[in-house]
Amino acid sequence: MARIVMKFGGTSMAGIERIRNVAARVKREWEAGNQVAVVVSAMAGETDRLVNFCREASSLYDPREYDVVVAAGEQITSGLLAITLQALGVPARSWLGWQLPIHTDDAFAKARIGDIETGPLLASMEAREVAVIPGFQGMHEGRITTLGRGGSDTSAVAVAAAVKADRCDIYTDVDGVYTTDPRIVPRARKLKKVTYEEMLELASVGAKVLQTRSVGLAMKEQVRVQVLSSFTGENAPMADTLPGTMIVGEEEIQDVESQLITGIAHDKNEAKITLTSVPDKPGAVATIFDPLAAANINVDMIIQNIAHQSAGSASATDVTFTVPAADLARSIETLTQAKASIGFAELIQDTRVAKISVVGVGMRSHAGVAAAMFKTLGERGINIQAITTSEIKVSVLINEDETELAVRILHTAYGLDATDEAA
Ligand code: ADP
Ligand code: ASP
Ligand code: MG
Repeated sequence: MARIVMKFGGTSMAGIERIRNVAARVKREWEAGNQVAVVVSAMAGETDRLVNFCREASSLYDPREYDVVVAAGEQITSGLLAITLQALGVPARSWLGWQLPIHTDDAFAKARIGDIETGPLLASMEAREVAVIPGFQGMHEGRITTLGRGGSDTSAVAVAAAVKADRCDIYTDVDGVYTTDPRIVPRARKLKKVTYEEMLELASVGAKVLQTRSVGLAMKEQVRVQVLSSFTGENAPMADTLPGTMIVGEEEIQDVESQLITGIAHDKNEAKITLTSVPDKPGAVATIFDPLAAANINVDMIIQNIAHQSAGSASATDVTFTVPAADLARSIETLTQAKASIGFAELIQDTRVAKISVVGVGMRSHAGVAAAMFKTLGERGINIQAITTSEIKVSVLINEDETELAVRILHTAYGLDATDEAA
């Protein structure tokens, strides 16, 4: 007997037929004698639909009310799954975020989970009732919060940590984590194992198969996470045979540094902002990034050009940086309000950009990864607009239209393509 958390994403929950399929899979685990908590997403496309309603209502919506609206999708699927399980003879009940409750901080629309009360939940699981928990939602001081897009993964890992589950199985529409998005590169290879650290970097630079926070939390709490497919038939191998990709500590992977690059990710959800002619003096950059931080906007890539001096005026420089595209309107508003204290001339925005990143712990011990990336892109005429690096990652910003091409040629250049036999 094991205690497991099963999480099903939007495509797995899209419609009653698919929910029946999910229920059958949950029933198999329950019949095997496991204690089961299930975390569900809204039906595919539903959260986008709800987000668009908020945007249509007002581009500068109140995040508290946004959370009330967008949390609704998961409420529906959790109730539907509980009903479907009951119809199959499996005792089940839903536990909404505010009922458990799942406490979060007050960062509405991207709240962080604090603690989860588990007493009644565990009692129900121990009494062989399947607990169905809507992902993505929590509460703060009596108000509903949501955890940021893709947040059901984080709900699942947090529940798994809170109930001390033996495993957290994330069921999705691909059968594991690949060297890159298999929808872009059909020759991508499935990884049997990937380290927490690499998965964290891959997720944070756009591999949306897992939400970044879920991986950070799994790493901190040492939750055993597996990514696997829900789109398999009745005779599919049981999850405890580990058919998917396990996220593991480095000690579980032999020869972790022999592979230079583990994966490549892309992200089209960033926007580029350039402020021209910012005064070149100490403290100037702080006047830009302080107000953005106060508005809870995460700045990612930053470039500051060399100062230039135009005739008769003080020395000035252009500062370029990226923010999440969803925060662009608020960023522009914040910067415009701070225009006098920053002292820039013009604000130029560009949403037609994409960030391409290569990730691998092997980079720590091998030089030349970045050079190979720049050369490969350069040879195909792809222009690089910004660069950032970390110990195990190199990212570049390029024109959005060149995303697929860039990912494909880098995948080949780093020797990641599946061979014909493996493909
Ligand atoms: P869910 O609705 O189940 O949460 P998501 O759409 O959030 O599913 O995540 C699964 C998708 O992630 C896949 O369909 C795939 O296109 C995409 N993806 C991006 N990068 C990767 C990768 N490296 N490996 C596997 N899938 C990836
Ligand atoms: N439904 C939410 C979203 O689409 C959360 C999730 O699916 O993980 O972002
Ligand atoms: Mg997801």
